[in-house]
Amino acid sequence: MAEGLTPMMQQYQRLRKSIPPDTFLLFRLGDFYELFFEDAKEASSLLNVALTRRNGVPMCGVPYHAAPAYIAKLIKAGRRVAVCDQTSEAQPGKIVSRDITQVITAGTVSELNLLEANKANYLGAVYASDGLFGFAYADLTTGEFRLMQAADHQSLLDALVRVGPAELLVSEEQREQFAALENATSYDSYAFLPDQSSFVLCEHFKTKSLDGFGCADMPAAIGAAGSIVHYLKHQLRRKVNQLKIIRDCERAAGRLSQASGNARDLVSLRVSLEQLPKLRAEIRKLKERVEYGTGAKEAGDPTAATNGAHRKMIDRIHEGIHEMPEVAAKLAGALADEPPLALKEGGIFRDGHNADLDELRSAAREGKNWIGELQEREIAATGIKSLKVRFNSVFGYFIEITKSNLAEVPQHYTRKQTTVGGERFITPELKDIEGKILGAEERSRNLEYQLFQQLRDETLREIQFIQETASAIANLDAITSLAETARLFHYCRPQLDESLRLSIRDGRHPVLDQRLIEEKFVPNDTELDGEKERLAIITGPNMAGKSTYIRQVALIVLMAQMGSFVPATSAQIGLVDRIFTRVGANDDLSRGQSTFMIEMNETANIVNNATARSLVILDEIGRGTSTFDGLSIAWSVAEFLHDTIKARTLFATHYHELTKLAEQRKGICNLNVAVREWNDQIIFLRKIVSGGADKSYGIQVARLAGLPKELLDREILAHMEQPDTSASQTGKPRKKTKSGMPTAEKPQLDLL
Ligand code: ADP
Ligand code: MG
Repeated sequence: MAEGLTPMMQQYQRLRKSIPPDTFLLFRLGDFYELFFEDAKEASSLLNVALTRRNGVPMCGVPYHAAPAYIAKLIKAGRRVAVCDQTSEAQPGKIVSRDITQVITAGTVSELNLLEANKANYLGAVYASDGLFGFAYADLTTGEFRLMQAADHQSLLDALVRVGPAELLVSEEQREQFAALENATSYDSYAFLPDQSSFVLCEHFKTKSLDGFGCADMPAAIGAAGSIVHYLKHQLRRKVNQLKIIRDCERAAGRLSQASGNARDLVSLRVSLEQLPKLRAEIRKLKERVEYGTGAKEAGDPTAATNGAHRKMIDRIHEGIHEMPEVAAKLAGALADEPPLALKEGGIFRDGHNADLDELRSAAREGKNWIGELQEREIAATGIKSLKVRFNSVFGYFIEITKSNLAEVPQHYTRKQTTVGGERFITPELKDIEGKILGAEERSRNLEYQLFQQLRDETLREIQFIQETASAIANLDAITSLAETARLFHYCRPQLDESLRLSIRDGRHPVLDQRLIEEKFVPNDTELDGEKERLAIITGPNMAGKSTYIRQVALIVLMAQMGSFVPATSAQIGLVDRIFTRVGANDDLSRGQSTFMIEMNETANIVNNATARSLVILDEIGRGTSTFDGLSIAWSVAEFLHDTIKARTLFATHYHELTKLAEQRKGICNLNVAVREWNDQIIFLRKIVSGGADKSYGIQVARLAGLPKELLDREILAHMEQPDTSASQTGKPRKKTKSGMPTAEKPQLDLL
């Protein structure tokens, strides 16, 4: 699909995917906001604008300066609108970068002057928790933010009627419960969870607890309030609080040093630099706490070493941040608060920054006054009250006279152009003033461009410090994100040592754990001592949770070794030199490789490179070929990993013949994901237990997926009694091997 699209349409599709389907995407293209595909079809009728087609793609557009009125119409029709703007200047041969700069909804239309002045415009949210009903609402124009909790449904409805929010958020999970509410928009259930919400609120209000707000014991209300802040920040990409943030100064510095940066990059840099003293002071406090505070003091304390590492890390970050107050002050004094993207159109610098620039600007301004005076004089001289001096970029300044007054036009006017309503003239005096104005404007624009380059070069002299600072901040950002996640999701500090053990209690998959909504994530243990038990064969029906389990173990090890806390109640990780994975290969047809070929390449890489210190995760090898070949390969890979490489290995497979390996090899153990059968149905318990799976439950899973009964009832097994055809193609007779590996003469009937 993507190959046929132009780069710009690929950019469009990417942005389109990042917003909900019911939100219109207004895509800036030159002087227009364009809508495409389904958006265009719907919007053209809602907005009463023409629907056209380019290269077969339906589209419609509105002029950018009139956008607010059109957006208002879409909002009134109950829809949301994402506005995508150009975020870089056009450059030959390059596509303009674009990003969604805001999402506008009924509850958040403040900037658009679409509001009825005497009515507050509230964005609200409701959330039910423990039989209580929370309601929060905010008015973005005034900053008013309130929350309440009701003990019964009726009180909630009363409050809703009283406040009348223009837009109301409900948790996706509680959508049905609140189905009767008008204007309800369902939103990510996760954003309402009271734990997550109070964290978001504390962060937003820069406080350690919500006690001071008198709402610490109101989980339902907090859930609702937190979702509003989350929605504004993440869904609508608003900068709530205009939240004095450190911007991406690494990118800004990068662009500036490659001469592709603009004045906004310098402003980003300035805003970031201005935050540094505060940031550095915070880090200093942290440093003191680690050095003199509650850290471990006894030599035998296992946390002592970790604290040493923390201290070093904090020191490094502290030293990496350079405050550069002179640079910040210079940029602040020079640049306008919101300079344009373009570098050659002026408007970059503040008045007072440069005397020459001030002079040129005032000459241009004065010129405009002269034009005003000239118009008054000409009206007086000719007696034509409707006479106007106007400007366009083709003719410059001209005098416009309507048809009915053409008889009064003096001799010395020179006719330039006839229009529908009248005629346009110039005079020598007008052209003279025009020359002065345009000359001054052009010179001031050129001067601004020169001054910009100068300022950029001066700033870039500090590039080394800027880059060091940016990288220290990036490190800090990574570490604090890990810390925040650890706190929010109750991670534990793993214990790392030089053993070969892998011992995890209640391990969770860091992503699924947060994402599952309907069922709770079931934690699982892992126990490999690296000696007696180092290779686990994990069997169980499709969809049971095999892949999830082995990936979660790999992720926990990875997180532990990168210095993060891990999603478990405890974890002991014997250091791993590399993690090898063979999971879900996608066909790479462009390289002419089949799934099976990729799988074999990856497997070859593992057996050639893994060591006894490695962790190997194998997810279903041997699938893309005949049963016999597949099983044989899986079998011998498992043997080789166990006997020769001795790496800790988790091997998920639907070939439960492999469970026989445990009888022959002392370091191999069997695990399976427990399921329960109930009236022909299968219930997934998601619990890893020891032992091999006794059957595949393929039929049950197929039923679960909705395969018709006729297909499920058909007696297929009989057909499988014939020899495996692909095995005989090789021409080699297949015998029962010494290891007990199965042969072609006895196909694996239970594989169904
Ligand atoms: P398999 O590899 O056995 O076919 P998966 O690991 O792909 O199964 O898991 C299938 C689905 O089961 C996952 O997408 C997830 O929704 C759910 N699942 C897996 N493990 C768990 C778990 N521990 N707790 C809850 N749900 C799980
Ligand atoms: Mg799987």
